[in-house]
Amino acid sequence: MSADMGEQALRSAIVATALAMNALGINRGKSGNVSARGVSDGFDGFLVTPTGLPYDATAPEDIVPMTLDGQARGARLPSSEWRFHRDIYRSRADANAVVHTHAPFATTLACHSRGIPAFHYMVAVAGGRDIRCAPYATFGTQALSDHVVAALDGRRACLLAHHGMIAIGASLPEALALAVEVETLAEIYWRALSIGEPPLLTDAEMAVVLEKFATYGQPRGIEE
Ligand SMILES: [Zn+2]
Repeated sequence: MSADMGEQALRSAIVATALAMNALGINRGKSGNVSARGVSDGFDGFLVTPTGLPYDATAPEDIVPMTLDGQARGARLPSSEWRFHRDIYRSRADANAVVHTHAPFATTLACHSRGIPAFHYMVAVAGGRDIRCAPYATFGTQALSDHVVAALDGRRACLLAHHGMIAIGASLPEALALAVEVETLAEIYWRALSIGEPPLLTDAEMAVVLEKFATYGQPRGIEE
């Protein structure tokens, strides 16, 4: 659990997750940001990637500690999206890590304000029968953060209209793996849409999948 890691290990893990996000093809350039819940210098809060630095030039000491009331400490300024990171940690006890990317396929759907409906059973990996798309608001604003928290209600991922996507997890590897899964689902949905609207699974069928995922723990796309 990232919350149990020491501060230095957590800073290194955040940098590694940001680099992995780009290496995996779910983000490009300086867009996106990563955070993890943690304690810094005795203050409970979270640690987030800084604004304006390319990930390959970001060192563990550049990661910015913030308190849950939004106070940043250290030499660097936090990501401009720190508000939705803070509000996710405030409202979701199950979130110890947040990954935000401008993943190409998820963002393609989000540019049409489309979420991902139950076209494939793995949509349940995000915790519900669909993956919502939060309405558009300017990046960095409280309005965007409010939309994000609402779109994540009962879910571990959402798309952001005309912007990108967010995945949360109990740890950084969990949040990153979910972001990869959401991007994979977005790509398959986009491909499926190219030959027409795909039929959707019923609520009853999705309830069966959600029940199986709850029974077997965090799904990883492996069918037994
Ligand atoms: Zn963004």
